[in-house]
Amino acid sequence: MGSIILTSPLQGWAAAIDDVPDAVFSSRMLGDGVAIDPIGNVLHAPCDGEVLTLQASHHAVTLRGEGGVEVLMHLGIDTVALGGKGFEPLVAVGDAVTRGQPLVRFDLDGVAQSVPSLMTPVIVTNTEQFRITRTETGKLVGVGEGLIYLEPAEAVVEVKRDDRGDRVSGKVRVPMVHGIHARPAARVGEAARAFVAESWIVKDGCEASTRSPIALLKLGIRLHDEVDVVASGADAEAAVAALVALIEGGMDEHDQAESAPVTRSEPVAVEIPEGALAGTLAAPGYAVGQACWLRVIDIDVPRDGQGPERETERLNAALDIMRQRLSDASGDETGVAIRRAHMAFLEDPALQLDAYARIGQGRDAGHAWRQACRATAATMRAMGDARFAERADDLIDLERQMLRILTGTQEEALSFAPGTILLADELLPSQVMALDPNVIGLVLERGGPTSHVAILAATMGLPALVAVGPALAGIVDGTTLILDADGGLVHADPAAEHWTSAKAEVVRRSAAREAAVAAAAENCVSRDGVRIEAFANLGSVEDAAIAMAHGAEGSGLLRTEFLFLERDTAPTVAEQAALYGAVAAKLEGRPLIVRLLDIGGDKPASYLPIAAEENPALGLRGIRVGLAMPDVLDEQLRAILSVTPHGQCRIMVPMVASVAELLKVRERVAAIADEMVLSYRPEVGIMVETPAAAVTAGTLARHADFLSIGTNDLTQYALAMDRGNPAVAAGIDGLHPAVLQLIALTTQGAQAHKRWVGVCGGLASDRLAIPLLLGLGVTELSAAPRFVPDLKALVRRLSIADCRAHAVRALQLESAAEVRALARRFEEEFLA
Ligand code: PEP
Ligand code: MG
Repeated sequence: MGSIILTSPLQGWAAAIDDVPDAVFSSRMLGDGVAIDPIGNVLHAPCDGEVLTLQASHHAVTLRGEGGVEVLMHLGIDTVALGGKGFEPLVAVGDAVTRGQPLVRFDLDGVAQSVPSLMTPVIVTNTEQFRITRTETGKLVGVGEGLIYLEPAEAVVEVKRDDRGDRVSGKVRVPMVHGIHARPAARVGEAARAFVAESWIVKDGCEASTRSPIALLKLGIRLHDEVDVVASGADAEAAVAALVALIEGGMDEHDQAESAPVTRSEPVAVEIPEGALAGTLAAPGYAVGQACWLRVIDIDVPRDGQGPERETERLNAALDIMRQRLSDASGDETGVAIRRAHMAFLEDPALQLDAYARIGQGRDAGHAWRQACRATAATMRAMGDARFAERADDLIDLERQMLRILTGTQEEALSFAPGTILLADELLPSQVMALDPNVIGLVLERGGPTSHVAILAATMGLPALVAVGPALAGIVDGTTLILDADGGLVHADPAAEHWTSAKAEVVRRSAAREAAVAAAAENCVSRDGVRIEAFANLGSVEDAAIAMAHGAEGSGLLRTEFLFLERDTAPTVAEQAALYGAVAAKLEGRPLIVRLLDIGGDKPASYLPIAAEENPALGLRGIRVGLAMPDVLDEQLRAILSVTPHGQCRIMVPMVASVAELLKVRERVAAIADEMVLSYRPEVGIMVETPAAAVTAGTLARHADFLSIGTNDLTQYALAMDRGNPAVAAGIDGLHPAVLQLIALTTQGAQAHKRWVGVCGGLASDRLAIPLLLGLGVTELSAAPRFVPDLKALVRRLSIADCRAHAVRALQLESAAEVRALARRFEEEFLA
């Protein structure tokens, strides 16, 4: 047999099969071929042959042509759901057809409006018997033009039936709403290939090999049909069990009416149990203890001073003492970073000048300092910045520390009884750092989930809930509390039964944590065998050491702006290279995703001349800064590219909103690599933080090596809620169905180009969110370094198939609270 030509069955744009926005086709589960985006409305025969199958809904046809080649043509994606509407068959099964003969007429516009894509895969399904030698893609084709060129494969694989009577079988009722159509057939084939046993599906006495999607389609299996799964060979029993379980599980195509526990008309009950208050998760965990209020009382200072000269001396002396304290580099990295932030405020000339001016008007040094700090803090809060507003707390903290020096008073020793859950209106970072170990949790009336207080609490392992609201004032000192930060609840005065079960929960969690830490170095693979990368977010070399000690497999986000903030001068290429190199070395060769500077707007750097903006979150930030200041971008790229071993560092572009931004960065990477005479090119991926990036992920993925979702910003932009504004903190939840939809769009877009999708925002460290993220197709999670053992332990207990069904349900819900309630239910059901 010579070569075979399949001609185009449609007029339209011919694209690579990889571009089909459906993994079943793009991953070649059903076979190999080409996709056509049609502009004509009639599907024609690509060769002479016989009609083997015609789906009941008339959207897919297979032909057997010359030499036995089997060709599947699937009009559009998800068209099975149209139930035949818009399709008119022009042939029947068994008909002999000639090349170019019309097979199906369809309503091009009507169908296009009802499905995600009209891309029509034209696929050779028996690729074990034929080898594709050439395809015509990336161009407009007309009906009858050469499209796919084939040759018979040298060794034809024969599927042998085992006739020795050692066949095992199991029965299963099909719950998929559209029966076994192309997608489930492919999934069955894929699952069957994991076993050495041969397997078949038998319906009404007719059997089809699981290796042949076409044969499976020919069985015409519909919803509620009972079929036998039969297998023969060494692992036949396991094969039958797996295939029965796969079909029984519904492959995310359940008949919603009968099987989905949750539908639009039946929302998940969101109960705030009696005696409980709801808040926003700031640091994960669970604790039981007694309430104790921390009320911060203003330090008394006189209004008028002892004359400008004396007060200036006093202020200068206090500034010197403060400088000394803040330059103390001992303690952990977070503490040092916060002291550095306070130092930057202390040295702020505008702040000092304001204080001196007030002293000049006869004010006491303490009064002048307080007024200057408060005026600046008020301006920062009013700017509408996210994290900038949170930094105002640092300024108030600094005010307090200076007043302690000026008044010669000590901060009252914060000592608490063992098992204290601390309640406060708001807390200052220095107060959190000074807490004694008897404090086991924090609950704040206000506060933001991304503030320094939240970061500190997470670093110290303290569960924390913020933005609980004024109702918190109703809890008096000594009240027994159950703080379920993960669940966003604090229960006051629980009933005896609840108290006992909560204490048991604390014991269970601490045992689980110990076991997770002990197994931290082991692999991260789901119960059903899917590999998930467990990475850590880093901001320093010390973070990298912590991540390594907790089993991280690499870093999915190095926040390089941490090096740039709180400095007066830009770091040099050498300084940057040294830091990136040190982090890379700590990771001992594991992947390090270096995010390009994410400053500007809410993360100002004093040496970068960015004008004040009315809406900084929507202004010059992320990669927009790098593109507006090409030297800053080039220097950072030079530093990253100089890190050895080459290739360990990947580059990630923040705040991308359009393809042009990514292409520009790629261009600079290539130019700098040339300039440095490097033969390698690092991977360049994007952060998906804007709804624009999520919605156009399919286009961006053409040019990006990977996509990592920054759920913190994606949530803020999707919900139009400032992530640092306590007034809206209660509403900012990445599990809002709108955010989940954007995540789903991102994974779909990325899959079309075979790009992996990770999450490096806060959701990757949220145990209720993780099953949903994995169900939506995320395969890399970059979490807080100390959370990595818990993340790995959780993934090992999950089945991705269960997660998929879970995600499908969540996407239909109406609020973040409903999604969280569903996620808790999933946890109880699958992880109890
Ligand atoms: C995010 O937005 O989710 C993210 C990871 O970036 P950052 O929190 O640093 O803005
Ligand atoms: Mg971000």
